[in-house]
Amino acid sequence: MEKLIIEARVNEYAMRRHNRHVPWTSEEIARDAAACREAGASIVHFHAREENGAPCHDAARYAETIARVHDVCDLLVHPTLGANTLSASKEGRLAHVLAMARDKRTRPDFAPMDMGSTNIDAFDPVARRFVTTDQMYLNSTDTLMYFAKEISVAGLKPAAVVWNLTYLRQAMLFHEMGLLDDPVYLGLTLTEGKIHAGHPATEAGLDAFLNNMPKTVPIIWTVYNYGGSLLTLADKIIASGGHVAVGLGDHPYTELGEPENAAVISKFADIARKHGRGVASPAEARKILRMP
Ligand code: ZN
Repeated sequence: MEKLIIEARVNEYAMRRHNRHVPWTSEEIARDAAACREAGASIVHFHAREENGAPCHDAARYAETIARVHDVCDLLVHPTLGANTLSASKEGRLAHVLAMARDKRTRPDFAPMDMGSTNIDAFDPVARRFVTTDQMYLNSTDTLMYFAKEISVAGLKPAAVVWNLTYLRQAMLFHEMGLLDDPVYLGLTLTEGKIHAGHPATEAGLDAFLNNMPKTVPIIWTVYNYGGSLLTLADKIIASGGHVAVGLGDHPYTELGEPENAAVISKFADIARKHGRGVASPAEARKILRMP
């Protein structure tokens, strides 16, 4: 079994109420990235944030953060399209990634493609009502075909994020059409807490993905648990040949104290070693994913 690829999901839109170590500024993200690399990560995924933790939609901040990460370590970089949630056009949503890819200093290695659309309203379990009722994550087939083409032209590896089985089926059709190269890098999304748009973070939720992955398609799969801990499923994922994408962005990991991202990565690296897999360096991850 190949070594474990650990993607550090350092911040998403997490606040510091449960863990004060969530990195927000580009300096903090870069410092965390270097520490995660030491701890065994090979990829870093981040969202730009303002000084007060609010989402930052400034493309320049994304570029600056990637440049800082490149300055301090060799982690592969997986940015988000969240920089442009305000833009409805497919071109606008991807523009900052393509611009960064043209400059060696700011070049990312991956670009995400969420392979379908879903309602994404948070649910408040105490009040037993939705916090919002109109939030949709929209990715039309036309938009995704545009992303696939442009990401490929830019020489980046698409991270095909799947929130449920219909997304998985769409990803497999894109592979069949030659729009996703071998091996497909699939991000299987489990969700816990307030967001119910992904599969439940249970063995059954994960198995629904695994049981529906065609054996004939070369797939490298990783697992996220948005809003929850991935520790409970780590043994199963790692023993089944999967990879993990974890960090304080998804969950404060207070079951480990009040850890920094690097301590969370270390924990998963230890589990990988226990299963005899070891952790992939960025260069090894690049090779496993046959990246340009
Ligand atoms: Zn993200």
